[in-house]
Amino acid sequence: MGPTTMTVAVFADALYDPARAETVRPATVLVEDGRVSASGRRDTVRVPADAETIDAEGLTVLPGLIDCHVHLCMRGTGLDHSEALATPPSLTVLQAVESCRRTIEAGFTTVRDAGGTPAAVRLAVERDYFPGPRMQLAIQILSQTGGHSDQHFPCGATLLWNPAPELPEPVVDGNEAMRRRVRELIRAGADWIKLCTSGGVLSPGDSPHHATFTLEEIQTAVAEAATQGRSVMAHAQANAGIKNALRGGVATIEHGIWLDEEAIAMMLDGGRALVPTLVAPLWVGRHAANGRMPEYARTKSALVGHDHRTSARRAIEAGVTIAFGTDSGVGPHGTNGEELLCLHELGMDAADCIRSATTVAARVLGHEGKVGTLTQGAYGDLVGVPGDPVRDLELLARPENVHLVVKGGRVLKLNQGRKA
Ligand SMILES: [Zn+2]
Repeated sequence: MGPTTMTVAVFADALYDPARAETVRPATVLVEDGRVSASGRRDTVRVPADAETIDAEGLTVLPGLIDCHVHLCMRGTGLDHSEALATPPSLTVLQAVESCRRTIEAGFTTVRDAGGTPAAVRLAVERDYFPGPRMQLAIQILSQTGGHSDQHFPCGATLLWNPAPELPEPVVDGNEAMRRRVRELIRAGADWIKLCTSGGVLSPGDSPHHATFTLEEIQTAVAEAATQGRSVMAHAQANAGIKNALRGGVATIEHGIWLDEEAIAMMLDGGRALVPTLVAPLWVGRHAANGRMPEYARTKSALVGHDHRTSARRAIEAGVTIAFGTDSGVGPHGTNGEELLCLHELGMDAADCIRSATTVAARVLGHEGKVGTLTQGAYGDLVGVPGDPVRDLELLARPENVHLVVKGGRVLKLNQGRKA
């Protein structure tokens, strides 16, 4: 999206600041050239006479939400191998158009894509071919031979999640190969390197209970990424896989199904973040109920659900940094907000749930002050909901409750028929 050169004033009933958990009312947010130039109580913000106005009366506005774990090229309608066989690579990429639209309409204006999405999708959004969130990309998901992203089936066929030709190979073994693959990923546009340090659910030949990659392979990836200013995120479910990832220096643990006390202490020590993705197993179960999940995934998912919630609850209680992430692409894009309810259910208070998807996620993504806030200098990314989201998280959890979405000062969604 090109820079917005006009001045836009959003007039809302209230402005909620996640950092302080404070609301002011009535409120104005002033956006100039795509960035917030002032925000706060209406009588404190001087609005230039020629400013374009956005009427958000009846709404509480807050910063656009951030999802630290999505897969925009996966549709989120379940796994169906015969459908995969009939899907050309370019169609897999085009699925991102719909995913981006749904993500925006749910109020998520920034995402980290955890693999399978080529840099062309981000370029297309930046060039305004279609609306979509700001994005950081992992490009490809790396695993060892037989690991989580090795989609090699017993029949001999390999069904890559996204066979687009510009995505580097997902399978890598050994330190030198790892070093080269990380360089290839960065060349292909990766902001993050995604490693599978354990098995997972949506893969035919591995187990979530087993660690994958050697510690040396992980350390090599982390060091190589760091030389070019990138960090590493780890799909890590098994306890040993989580600890290898933390010892190896990864920044974020994705899923984290079997955290124990030692792993939690390591996370607290290094200031590392957990991205629990609690809605992902719910969606695996829902797809399975509709016959859209292969037997191996259904079985594995049923085995991990309870432990996953226990592990996340422990991390929340211990004060581990929890960055909001959904694995959308497993479930449908646009349902991201349901994760807020899952976190709340495990004991996180509502203000912290909202921080997890704003200020905390921004910090974890290295985007502090730019997203997840509406203070001066931030991108003019905001959402409007009809009420106080701290009292009622459902307002952010359901896309139909998100009446206004603005990105860079441009309105991408405005529900005109809303009740003020
Ligand atoms: Zn994922």
